[in-house]
Amino acid sequence: MLLSGTQFEQSGGSVTPVLSVKNLSTSFRVNDEWKTVVRNISFDVAPRETVAIVGESGSGKSVTSLSIMRLLAKHSSRIEGQVMLGGRDLLSLPEEEMRKVRGNEISMIFQEPMTSLNPIFPIGKQIAEALTVHKDISKAEAKAEVIRLLEKVRIPNAKGRFDEYPHQFSGGMRQRVMIAMALASKPKLLIADEPTTALDVTIQGQILDLIKVLQEEEGMSVLFITHDMGVVAEVADRTIVMFRGDAVEVGETDDIFHRGKHPYTRALLSAVP
Ligand code: ADP
Ligand code: MG
Repeated sequence: MLLSGTQFEQSGGSVTPVLSVKNLSTSFRVNDEWKTVVRNISFDVAPRETVAIVGESGSGKSVTSLSIMRLLAKHSSRIEGQVMLGGRDLLSLPEEEMRKVRGNEISMIFQEPMTSLNPIFPIGKQIAEALTVHKDISKAEAKAEVIRLLEKVRIPNAKGRFDEYPHQFSGGMRQRVMIAMALASKPKLLIADEPTTALDVTIQGQILDLIKVLQEEEGMSVLFITHDMGVVAEVADRTIVMFRGDAVEVGETDDIFHRGKHPYTRALLSAVP
């Protein structure tokens, strides 16, 4: 089904976006007052496309992704607008259905992989668990699949590392483990929230390259959140610039680099070496 207004031209054809965010606003209740931190933002992510959200700390990038995933505390937040995925508005799905979307259709990776890994379980077991929650497969099948996933994210000696614990992995290797876990469900969309921010520069480059290669191999779309315009130039087909809760630019990355108009965009660009 094509929804009017959500189609756009790509290589001459009309393409239905994987994700279509319309007039998304998010507010938090702080001391009995509602404070809006994401204001009326709209954007699409096409199949196999990488869209970046860039902006300074506190501009509303993470809240945007957490709103899409409906991962904000209900009693103290209000999300308005539409988040269309596969013809459904995620904001009006029953919680049960939304849980399936999180397990099967959209995966997320974050800045600090250690916080998402359980320190007392071997990494192989944790990925296997992520697999068996949604699929009815045997232990042996799960182990083989985990090793395949670890190899896919280019962890050397994947088989030998199955029983190792998170602390035995470097920061970059842990982020690879998280990416393997994110790929386990074969998602249509990967949301990566500053996945390289905590890593050394050389490792950052390796993780960005890995995400690009996997995106090709898996045919995923990626929503890539970063505060770094250098990273945007590296990964994004299209870009949203956020400033204090507003999307001040939405467009082709090249256009934003050459013709970005908002003063904040100019300031961001002047910081790129
Ligand atoms: P960033 O662009 O750095 O990811 P965030 O999306 O995390 O920024 O935060 C945007 C704004 O929303 C910030 O001012 C932050 O303090 C505020 N905020 C984030 N989460 C909450 C919350 N749970 N309750 C109240 N305010 C929040
Ligand atoms: Mg953030």
